[in-house]
Amino acid sequence: MTIPVYLKQSDQDPEPRDAVYYLLTGDGLFINRQAPFFSSSVPAPGGPPGLRRHQAWLENRFPPIPGPLFERVVGFFDLVCRRSSDEAIVMLTWHEKRGYDVMVPEQRVTGGKWITGQHIPLRIDYTVPKLPSGMQLVGDIHSHGPMGAFESITDRQDQRQLPGLHIVVGNLDLRREPPDLFATIAVDDFAFEIRNPLSLFEGYVCRRPEDVPPDWMDRVRFTSTPIYAQSYGAYGTERLPARRFANDR
Ligand SMILES: [Zn+2]
Repeated sequence: MTIPVYLKQSDQDPEPRDAVYYLLTGDGLFINRQAPFFSSSVPAPGGPPGLRRHQAWLENRFPPIPGPLFERVVGFFDLVCRRSSDEAIVMLTWHEKRGYDVMVPEQRVTGGKWITGQHIPLRIDYTVPKLPSGMQLVGDIHSHGPMGAFESITDRQDQRQLPGLHIVVGNLDLRREPPDLFATIAVDDFAFEIRNPLSLFEGYVCRRPEDVPPDWMDRVRFTSTPIYAQSYGAYGTERLPARRFANDR
């Protein structure tokens, strides 16, 4: 027996006459029944029988980011971390003719002294200026200072504001090359992890703080605040929902 599927487009839709039917609504799929002694509408997460299973996927087609550009970005993060163990952010842009570039927004970075006495980064506040025509925002790259490269709860929330590539650079104080990386592509409130974040770059060798334009550091304002256990929770003591891997090139 084929069970019909209806769309719920208004609250005044006429009730279908089928004894059993699926209703696709703004809250997902439901199975509705008209039995002799009751009518019901119940979530049907599995979907109508007979349809093929499906799961979220994303195919990564971002062109590789030029190594020299990323060398400058990691150099910038290195300078910020060396100054005060803080984090920083750059926006990743794409120009239809010139390809990738980064834009450093005016930003206020806030860190604080942890119980061990170590200064750790807590948050970045920034606003993205208007981009020139032909240029679009395709992601961001931020650092975690001396903390590891991972996706914090704050990062997960921030990704909702900007669909695209999100790269985290961590453990900058260890001076490892390449640095520790974590990357996702976020879309529609879903984040796909990149299995090998280094594959996003072409020809990265090492951080080059000497190549950082001086005005990048001028756009960072540093502040510090006392740390409460609550704010530290943003660094991943809470469990994040499951994430899928992107299909890499
Ligand atoms: Zn982060």
